Amino acid sequence: MSSIFTRIINGEIPAYKVAEDENFLAFLDINPLAKGHTLVIPKKEVDYIFDIEDPLYAGLFEFAKKVAKGIKAVVPCTKIGVTVIGLEVPHAHIHLIPIYSIYDMDFSRPKLKFSSDEFAGIAKEISANII
Ligand code: 5GP
Repeated sequence: MSSIFTRIINGEIPAYKVAEDENFLAFLDINPLAKGHTLVIPKKEVDYIFDIEDPLYAGLFEFAKKVAKGIKAVVPCTKIGVTVIGLEVPHAHIHLIPIYSIYDMDFSRPKLKFSSDEFAGIAKEISANII
């Protein structure tokens, strides 16, 4: 069965998309730790990030770099924190999270809530700032 992220890629499940190319997709995390919390995924469904073959693996991080710059241009923060967990969704993904402190990367914290209009607005703004 396809991962939930493959279903997003295929348009079977909606997502607030931030950037997309032939091989990669970035979209807002539905349970964000911060405004602009974004997931970056390869379109090829691979569970464990270190199982992604080399050219695609490097491309994923290059794509994430572009997206992170777009997030940083829009969301006030000190840096964009980068983490890979992958215990919930078996489709490799990089979390990009605007942070001021290590506390902002604590996944045990309560997640933020945004309306669909707010999510759409954040995604649009980030998207417009990706070069
Ligand atoms: P992880 O696998 O890295 O532990 O966590 C998976 C992440 O994906 C979580 O932060 C969760 O909020 C996010 N997530 C799970 N299902 C969906 C979904 O259907 N849409 C979006 N946009 N994010 C999701």
